[in-house]
Amino acid sequence: MKRVISVRDLEEMQHNGQDVRTLPDDVILTPSARDFLRDFETNGKSHVNGAKANAISDGKSTAPAKPLNSKSSKAELEAFFNSPYCHSIKEQICEMGRRLWQRAYVDGNGGNMAVRVGEDIAICTPTLVSKGFMKPEDMCLVDFEGNQLCGAKKRTSEILMHLQIMKRQPKAVATCHCHPPYSTGFAVAGIEPPTCMVPEYEVFASVAIAPYRTPGTPEMGQLVADLVDKHNVILMANHGVVAWSHNNIEDAYFKMEILEAYCRTILVASQLGKPVGTMTPAQLQDLLKIKQSLGIPDPRHGLKECELCDNAEWRPGVTCQVPAKESPAIGFDSEAEAAVQAITDQIMSRLK
Ligand SMILES: [Zn+2]
Repeated sequence: MKRVISVRDLEEMQHNGQDVRTLPDDVILTPSARDFLRDFETNGKSHVNGAKANAISDGKSTAPAKPLNSKSSKAELEAFFNSPYCHSIKEQICEMGRRLWQRAYVDGNGGNMAVRVGEDIAICTPTLVSKGFMKPEDMCLVDFEGNQLCGAKKRTSEILMHLQIMKRQPKAVATCHCHPPYSTGFAVAGIEPPTCMVPEYEVFASVAIAPYRTPGTPEMGQLVADLVDKHNVILMANHGVVAWSHNNIEDAYFKMEILEAYCRTILVASQLGKPVGTMTPAQLQDLLKIKQSLGIPDPRHGLKECELCDNAEWRPGVTCQVPAKESPAIGFDSEAEAAVQAITDQIMSRLK
C-alpha cells in the first residue's frame, strides 16, 4: 500500500534533521505537502501552514504555558480572557462571522461559534448579535457546563451543543454552527448528501444527520455529540449544520464552505437530466488515505474497496427519472367524479 505524506510528516522530517527531498518515488503527497516541497525547492525554506499560522498568529499571542480551567481564580480567568492570545482568537471568530454573513450562511442573529481555550473552558459568540457585525469585546468565556465566566454580553443560547461536541470529541478545538441554505435544504429533507462525486468533499467532510430537537436543549446537543466520533459535520434535521475542527475556527468554517458548495453543485447536477458520474472505489480509497493522514475521521476508514460507494444513497438525477403515475389520484372516487361532472354540465349549460 502506498504511503500518504502530509505537511505534518514533512515538518517532522525537517524537525528531525532529515532532508525532505529524499522521499521515495512511490508515496502519495497531499496537495499541501506538494506545495510545501515546491516552496522548499524554490525558496530553500519551508512553506508555512496557513491555518496554523492563523491560529498562532504573531508570536505575542501564543497559548499560555499553563492552560487555565474552570476552577482557576476569577482574576486569572479575567487576565487570560483579556490577554493578546484570547484577543487574537476573538478576532478570528469575528472574521469568520463576517464570512458567514457575507455568504448568507446566517440569518438574523442565527449561527454561533466556539473555540476551546483550556481544559474545560471555551470562548464563544454572544446571543442576539448578527454574526456579520461582532466585535472582539462581544465575546464570552464559558465553562464546559455553559456557565458564563467572563464577557459583558450573554453567551449564545446554543452553547451546550458546542460544549457537548468538545466534551465527547477531545480533538475538537473549534466549532461552527450556521444555516447555509443548500445544506440546510438537505437537512430539512432528511437527506444525507450522496458521496463519491467531488474530491474536496470526500477529503475534508464526514457528514451525518442528527434528528430534530429544540435548538439549545441538552437533548439536541446529545444527539449531535453521539455522531462526532466518526463525523466532523452534522446536519441537524429541520435546522442547520454544525462542524468541528481539530485545527482552528477557520478550518471549522471551511467545512461549511465545502459542504455548501457541494450541496449546490449536486443540486445543479441533478437538474441536468443525466445520471451523474461517480468516482470508482479505488479512486475514493486514495482520497480516504489522504483524509486519514490529515487526522480527519470518517466511518469508511478501514473499509474494503468493494464496500466503498456501494450503497443505496440518494443520487442526483435519479429522482428526475421516477415515471409519472398513470392511475388517477388515490381517493378520487366515483361520487366526486359525478359531482365534478354535474358542475361541469351546469357551467356548460350557462355558456350556451
Ligand atoms: Zn441554529
